[in-house]
Formats: sequence, C-alpha cells, structure tokens
Amino acid sequence: MATHKLSFSVAVIGLGLCGSASAQQAETAKTHDIVSPPSCTNNKGETVVFIDRNTAAAGPAAGMANRDASGKPIVLRSNFAAAPPAYQSFIDRHECAHHQSGDVDRPHPPRNSPEHLMNEAISDCIAILRLRDEENYDRAAVGKVTAAMRHEMAKIGFPEISISSRISNIDNCYAKYGAPKEFIEGVLKQRGLLQP
Ligand SMILES: [Zn+2]
Repeated sequence: MATHKLSFSVAVIGLGLCGSASAQQAETAKTHDIVSPPSCTNNKGETVVFIDRNTAAAGPAAGMANRDASGKPIVLRSNFAAAPPAYQSFIDRHECAHHQSGDVDRPHPPRNSPEHLMNEAISDCIAILRLRDEENYDRAAVGKVTAAMRHEMAKIGFPEISISSRISNIDNCYAKYGAPKEFIEGVLKQRGLLQP
C-alpha cells in the first residue's frame, strides 16, 4: 500500500510542474541565494564535486548523488534557488551522506523498498548531525529545515505520513545521536565498508 502511494506521488511530479501558471509564477518569484556547498569526501577518500543546474527555481529544490561519466563522485543540485538556505544546506549534506555511507557505489535498492527508505533515513540523519555539530544549528534552525522540507514534499504530492515520519526521524537524530563521524563509521562498519 505504502509503496503504491509513494510511487503515485512521484508520478505526480510532472503534473505539478506543468500545472497552473499562476501557482508556478508564485513559486518562481520566491528565489533565494544559493549557498556554498560543504566539504564532502566519500568513504574511499575521494572529493565530491557539487554542480548546479536549473537555477531558475522552476521546480522543487532537490539533489542527486552519483558518479559522472568519468567516475568522479558528484552531487547535482537542482533548483536550489527555490528553497531557503537552511534547506539547501540540508540537501547538500544529505546527498553528500549518500557518498559518505557508500550508497552511491552499492546496488540501488528498489525505489521505496525498506532498504531504500533506510538509506534515506541514514542520509537525513548524517545531514542533520553535520548541521548541528559543524554549523551550530539550534532547534529553530532545524525547524527551518523541516518546514521547508514539508513545503517541498507537499508541493510534489507526498502523503502526510511520509512527510511526518521523515521529519520525526530527523528530530530524533538531532536529539539522540553523537558526532556525525562516529555515526558514519557505524554505518560503514555494519556494511563491511570501514577502511582499516
Ligand atoms: Zn537521498
């Protein structure tokens, strides 16, 4: 059931973007400066490069972690101007976390499978721990991240349960976990990817 709902939400993205012109203009009017990317090194010690695309803010702010054609680890940043700086910073670190945790070089679990959702929850957790410990995000700053996340996810049709469970995982990580380095090492160890 949940899988169907989520798949449907994703399918709605196209409709959302081609929807009412007035709604799109209202969205486009809200542009923000684009933040500097954080430092990011993957689990093999390679430097990750951040690349901006579609900065006209016509669509949801999003990121994608991958390797380019030459094998260089990259994060593609889409429509970052559409989102406030705190949420841009979160997306950068979430995508970086897919490199830090080794996700990028592991087989892709099926979309919305438990394994996929776990990878997303881990990346969200690493991202908020980095913002807490490296950028001194307090509760109010975390609130800005989750409010923007709620707005972007609702805009592309995610059901409330997906939004609220994602945000409660983030709040839980912020409150309960230690340093991001140790958290990442724990994940890598569990995956047999920890470099000696
Ligand atoms: Zn992700």
